[in-house]
Amino acid sequence: MNITRQLDASGVCTLTFDRAASSANVFDRATLVELDAHLAALEKEPTLTGVIIISAKPKIFIAGADLKEFVRAPDAEALGEIVDMGHRVFTRLSLLSVPSVAAIHGVCLGGGCELALACDWRVASTEKVTKIGLPETQLGIVPAWGGSVRLPVLIGLPAALGMILPGRQIVGAQARKLGLVDELAHREYLPDVARRQLARGKRPPHLRPFSGSAPFKALVASQARRNVLAKTHGHYPAPFKAIEVCAAALGRSLEDGFALEKAAFLELVETPVCRRLIGLFFLQERAKKMSVPAPAVAAPVRRVAVVGAGVMGAGIAQWVSARGLPVVLKDVAPEALARGLRMIESVYREAVKRRVFTVTEATAGLDRITPAHRDGPLTSVDLVIEAAVEKLEAKQAIFRALETRVRADTVLATNTSALSIESIAAGLAHPGRVVGIHFFNPVNRMQLVEIVRGPGTSPDALATALQFVKAMGKLPVIVKDSPGFLVNRILMPYMIEAVRLFRESGAVEAVDRVMLDFGMPMGPLRLADEVGLDVASHVARDLGQRLQHPAPPDDTLDAMIAKGWLGKKNGRGFYLHAGKSAHVRPNPDIGAAVGAVATRPLDAAKACDRLVLIMINEAARCLAEGVVESSEDVDFAMILGTGWAPFRGGPLRHADALGVPEVVRRLEALAREIAPRFEPCERLREMVCTGSTFYPPDNPVRP
Ligand code: NAD
Repeated sequence: MNITRQLDASGVCTLTFDRAASSANVFDRATLVELDAHLAALEKEPTLTGVIIISAKPKIFIAGADLKEFVRAPDAEALGEIVDMGHRVFTRLSLLSVPSVAAIHGVCLGGGCELALACDWRVASTEKVTKIGLPETQLGIVPAWGGSVRLPVLIGLPAALGMILPGRQIVGAQARKLGLVDELAHREYLPDVARRQLARGKRPPHLRPFSGSAPFKALVASQARRNVLAKTHGHYPAPFKAIEVCAAALGRSLEDGFALEKAAFLELVETPVCRRLIGLFFLQERAKKMSVPAPAVAAPVRRVAVVGAGVMGAGIAQWVSARGLPVVLKDVAPEALARGLRMIESVYREAVKRRVFTVTEATAGLDRITPAHRDGPLTSVDLVIEAAVEKLEAKQAIFRALETRVRADTVLATNTSALSIESIAAGLAHPGRVVGIHFFNPVNRMQLVEIVRGPGTSPDALATALQFVKAMGKLPVIVKDSPGFLVNRILMPYMIEAVRLFRESGAVEAVDRVMLDFGMPMGPLRLADEVGLDVASHVARDLGQRLQHPAPPDDTLDAMIAKGWLGKKNGRGFYLHAGKSAHVRPNPDIGAAVGAVATRPLDAAKACDRLVLIMINEAARCLAEGVVESSEDVDFAMILGTGWAPFRGGPLRHADALGVPEVVRRLEALAREIAPRFEPCERLREMVCTGSTFYPPDNPVRP
C-alpha cells in the first residue's frame, strides 16, 4: 500500500503518500491505480469538503515516476497506456467538486509535481529539502502527465519554459515567487496552512492576459529555441519538443494538450539520446547506493578538518559546512586563510542570492568553520581532508605531522589530483587509514568525487570515505591508486592534443568550437585556462613520468607560464579573462608568445577525431589496467566529472556507437598520418579480434 486515506470530522480528507519499504515515494502503475480508487471513493463521500495530499517521508514528497517501470514497458502501446492513465487519474483529482491542495515538503519532481499541479492549490515547506521541478528534459523526454499543459497555464509560458527546458529544480521561496505555490510554511505548520488554503474553495480558472495569443506564443517560443540552440548545439531534441508542446497546448483544451504531450513523449522515448540519458540516471542511482561490502565498517563522520585553504580546500570546507558539519580549516599562510574564507563567504552569498540558503542558514554555515593557522590537537576530528600543494614531499610531511595530532581511528584523506596514495602514506604508523577523496573544481558544482583506494588503504577507511562522500550529496566512483586516477588521466592527452591543434592552426576558438559542437560543455583550451596552466602543465609532466604510454610532451604551456600567464586565475591564458565569462576573448598575443604557430586551416572532422579518439584510447587502457571496474564507471565518471557529452553516453558508449573496429581503423590512420601516439591500445585491438563491445549490444539501458 502506498497511500492512506483519512477523513476528519470537518470533511477534510488527507491522502498520505508513504510507499511501503522505501525511503522514497514514486509513481508507478500500482500507485496510480490506488490513487484512482481513493478518488473514486471520495467522489461518493457526502461529507467531503476538501482534500489534502501530503507525504509521510521526511525528505520526499513524490520523487517522480518509477523509471524502471518505464524502461520495462514492452512497447510504445504499453508506455502510451501509462501516460493515459496519469492524465486520467490526475484530471479526476482536478475535477473533484471540492478544493484540493498539495502540501509539499521534500522532493517534488516530475510526476509528483504534475500531481501537485492538478490540485487547486499548492503550499510548500520552507526547508531546503523541498525542491520542485519538472526535470524530464534531462532524461530526454517531456513532462507528459499534464506538466507541459498545466504549468504554462499556472505561471505563464516564459516562466514555465524557464523551468522545463533546463529541468530546473526550485526551492519553496522561488516557487512562491513564480506563483507555482500559493503559501509557504515551516514543515510542522504545513497541514494547517493547507487547511486554510482549502477555505478559498476551488481555484477559479484563469488565463494570463495575452498568454494564449498566437503572436505572443510564437515570440516566446522562438526566443526559447534560440537559447536552447545556443546552449545545447542542437544535440538534445527534448527541449525543442517541450517548447513546441507547451506553446501549442496553451489556450487549447486539456485533451488536446494531453494528446500533444503523449505524442511528443512517445517519439522522444525512442531516441538514442533518451536511452543514454536514462542510462545515466540509473548510473547516478547506482552511485548513491554504492557501499563497501561487510565486514568493512564505515565510521560516522561528525567533524572534519581541511588542510590547505586554497581553491580546493576552501571549496571543500564550504561544501562540508553547508551540509551541517563543523570544519577546522587550516593553512600555514594567514593571508591564504583569509583569502579562503573570503571565497567561502562569496559562495554562501551567491547561494543566498539564489535562495538556496536563507541569510541565517548561510551565517550558521560560515560559523561552523573554524580557521586555524597554527597546529593544534585534532582529536575531535573524524576525518581530515588534505588539500595543500600538489607536491609529494609536502604532502608526506603534512601526513606525518597529522598522525601525531589525530586519534588512532581518524581517517586521513588527500585531495591529490594525481599523486600516489601509497607514496603519501609511506612511513606512517597507520598507512591503512590513508585514502584519496578527490573532489573536482569547483566543488560546489561538480558532483563527482573519485575515491582512491591505495594498495594499503583499509576497507574501513574506504567505507568511511565512501559513506562521507555520499552523505555530502556527491556521487562517488572508486578508482585504483594509479597516475592521474581516472578522469585526469583521460583528460590530459586530450588537452595536450588540443594544444597541438592550436599550434598547427593558431585558432584558439576554432579548436574549442570543435568540441563544443561535439557536445562538451567547454572547449579544451578554455578548460586548460580554467584548470590553471601551471596545474595542467604539472599534472601533464607528472603523468608523463609515471605512465607507461604518456602523451608526448609539448612545451606550449611552459612558454605561456614563463610569460606569467596562468589562465583564468590571473586573467591571461589562451583567452583573456576580464570579469564575467561573457567578456572572455582569445588572447591576441598568444601566437607571438609561444612562437612557431602555423596557420593551417583546421579540419574540424579530423580535429574532432584526434581529440575524441585519443580519449577513447586512454579510457580503454584505464579499463584494461583495472583503474575502475567497468565501462559504466568510466562513462559515469567522465560525464559527471567533466560534462563529457551526456547525450553520447560517455567515451566508451560512444566507442560502441562508432563501432570498435572503426575506432581502431581511424586511430591507425591517425598514427600513420600524424604520430605514433595514436596507436590503438592492446585492449582495443583485442576487442576487434574477439568482436566484443564495451556494453552488451542488446542492453542499451541498464536499469
Ligand atoms: P592552492 O594552491 O590554491 O592551495 C593550496 C593551499 O595549501 C595554499 O593556500 C597553501 O598556503 C596551503 N598550504 C601549503 N602547504 C601547507 C601546509 N603544510 N599546511 C597547510 N596548508 C598548506 O591549490 P588547490 O588548487 O586548492 O589544490 C590543492 C590540492 O587539490 C592539490 O593537491 C591539487 O592537486 C588538488 N586538486 C586541485 C584541483 C584544481 O582544479 N585546482 C582539483 C582537484 C584537486
